[in-house]
Amino acid sequence: MPDPPIDLRSDTVTLPSPEMRAAIANAELGDDVFAGDPTVNRLQDMAAEMLGKEAALLVSSGTQGNLIAQLTHCPRGAEVIVGEGSHIIEHEAGGAWLVGGLGLHTVPIDSKGRLDLGAVRRAIRPDDPHYPRTGLVCVENTHNRAGGTVQNEEDVAAVRDLADKHKLPVHIDGARIFNAAVKLGVPVANLAAYGDSITFCLSKGLGCPIGSVLCGSQDFINDARRYRKVLGGGMRQAGIIAAAGIYALENMVERLADDHENAAYAAEELAEMPGVALSPPPETNLLYFTVDGWKSHKLERKLNDAGVLCFDEGGRIRWVTHYGIERSHIDEALDRTRAVLKAGP
Ligand SMILES: *Cc1c(COP(=O)(O)O)cnc(C)c1O
Repeated sequence: MPDPPIDLRSDTVTLPSPEMRAAIANAELGDDVFAGDPTVNRLQDMAAEMLGKEAALLVSSGTQGNLIAQLTHCPRGAEVIVGEGSHIIEHEAGGAWLVGGLGLHTVPIDSKGRLDLGAVRRAIRPDDPHYPRTGLVCVENTHNRAGGTVQNEEDVAAVRDLADKHKLPVHIDGARIFNAAVKLGVPVANLAAYGDSITFCLSKGLGCPIGSVLCGSQDFINDARRYRKVLGGGMRQAGIIAAAGIYALENMVERLADDHENAAYAAEELAEMPGVALSPPPETNLLYFTVDGWKSHKLERKLNDAGVLCFDEGGRIRWVTHYGIERSHIDEALDRTRAVLKAGP
């Protein structure tokens, strides 16, 4: 394999910068299960304020945050309405039904990852003892499977309106909500406003080694804290995690625009190569494409062998731009890809 490989598998592969490592090393610590870690408390206050919520909770991962949100919002046996192909149903190991006794009721999404509101309306159960209760509606923004697509305030407000009519809470899986906010040029709180709760990931484009944050009302977060404990997410001197998060919220948000520019540039160049089709053109830092005459799993293997690390995601090749990937890395990845395509399958 050519050295060094260029790692476009995910924005989760980002490594903490020297400054972030220094913040971790110098963090003031306490026992967070006793709510006594000053650095965790600071991160939670900061996140709540940025997202426009009363309170926040540091959790170990986005998966844990989404599961805690579902458990907190829903009684056992309830249904959660999610879009087809959403991270909650595809990539969270069935936690909702395994741990929560919850059903996931899927509805179609459009090319932006927006829920089909007519289908949501039909999925909401009447109050009748024959049916399970409907407990929650989930929105994913940016939408991973749809292509890192962004839903704007109007899009999310429409889901909120419908949920309000049926007195249902809305949870936003905002793993990459900062990418959406930076792309739209709006404060992240504007997008979070339409959710009763929202999770976002520190460990993706924001460059932290670990962690996500769940935000909501004070009552919601009080209950969520108990479910976090149940799931083994009560951590002790978690300030070493939170310190990275504080550093990221202060220093790593605006740079997400660089990732979006790199993805757009890579897409333009790829589109010039014979047989390449963007699927769809990127809006943020996720870029999907197919190539005529290539099976995606074979192309994945050839690209990986050529030092372009990436995944075949359901018949499309996915590249993810992130902290640590500069324009020069994209150029090198493009050169290697050109050579692979030229050699043919
Ligand atoms: C990454 C991601 C998550 C959470 O993933 P973890 O690896 O558990 O932190 C949740 N939702 C979406 C849309 C994601 O992309």
